[in-house]
Order: sequence, then structure tokens, then C-alpha cells
Amino acid sequence: MSDFVIELPEIATLPVKGTDGLFPVRRVYCIGRNYAAHAVEMGHDPDKEPPFFFQKNPNNLDVSGTFPYPPHSADVHHEAELAVALKSGGKNIAVKDALDHVYGYGVSLDMTRRDLQGQAKKMGRPWEVGKAFEDSAPITALVPAAESGHPDSGVIRLTVNGDVRQEGDLNQMIWKIPEMISYLSDYFELAAGDVILTGTPSGVGPVERGDKMEVTVDGLPSLEVTVV
Ligand code: MN
Repeated sequence: MSDFVIELPEIATLPVKGTDGLFPVRRVYCIGRNYAAHAVEMGHDPDKEPPFFFQKNPNNLDVSGTFPYPPHSADVHHEAELAVALKSGGKNIAVKDALDHVYGYGVSLDMTRRDLQGQAKKMGRPWEVGKAFEDSAPITALVPAAESGHPDSGVIRLTVNGDVRQEGDLNQMIWKIPEMISYLSDYFELAAGDVILTGTPSGVGPVERGDKMEVTVDGLPSLEVTVV
């Protein structure tokens, strides 16, 4: 056995609802503009263009229920999203086979430093500073697909302090989950432990310290997060 020359970094994991088991996270992919009404609110054409993806870091996922307001931003937005966790992967996965690779589902937030993302877009720079910061992906425990089924419709909603801010239906996704997995697998080799955030409905907006966010997706446990 080889000796690590520094202390081994902690492996990012997600709990699995109703068990002591842990799901190890390998990569986190996020799709952009996957609900037409959100594409429009961000100033884009909602026609079905090829999807695009960005990544967060595995250890940006956070199940603590608190979201520390990040530094260097005065415009941090919520984006409520369904998360898909893979139990296997590969390259060039066919759409019809894609759901065979799904371990389960969670409810998540793609928290975004919108001001920094906007600057990056304007300057043609990458998005990490707006998207891939500490604790930027609050998420619930995973529910195995054996229990939840494969959700392709149902309400996805986000409230802040009880007021509805985002509401849509999973059936409004421009790129469906099997299409997303297939498309990603043409560009990357997917593998067990990969997590995909599937985009957000319209109504994204800013949060402040003290706000209580709640994300609900039909058939899954809700995600409650306090901004601190
Ligand atoms: Mn998003």
C-alpha cells in the first residue's frame, strides 16, 4: 500500500434516507437553463438549444440545513433543483438505458453568486466563482429510485419565509433526465457517485441572512435551509 504524502482528504458523501448508508460523491454536474420560463427570465431564447453544463465540487454539497452567506457577493440567488445520483456510468449511454444508471434522487439548491456569475458571463470567463463555492449546493438525503420511482412530473417549489418564490413542474424540463445523462456521457465518462443537478424553474432571486428556504418536490423529502 502506498503512503499518502499529506493527510487524505475527506470523501464527500450524502446520507441515504432511512439507512445508515452513505453515497460517495465523485463529481457534480449542473445543467443550465433547463426550464423555458427560467431561460426567458435570464434573457435567453427558450427554444431547445443543445444543453450546457457546469460543475460544482463534490464537497460543495451540504446537508447541514444552514447556508453561510458567501463572501464577495451582494446578490446570492436560490435555484431549486431536483438532484439525480448515479450508481453506474459509462460513455455514450443511450437515452433508453440512461435511467438504469440512476441510484436515487434528492432535493437540492444551486446557490449562485449572481453578481459574480454576471461579471464572468460579461467577460467571457468561467463560472466557478459564481457557482462552485463552499456550501453552494444544499441537498437532502438521497431517496433510492427503488422507493421514489423516476420522477418526470410533479411540482417543484421553493418558498422563502413561507412565500412562494419559485414554482414549476418537472415535466417542464427542456432536457429530460435520460436525455441529460445520455448527452453528458457523450462528453464525459460518467461513473458511480456522479450527481446531476437538473436545472431550476423560473422565479430565482436573492436571499438574505436569516431567510428560511424550503424546497419541495412531489414525492421526495423537503429541503429546509436557513441562510446564516
Ligand atoms: Mn441551476
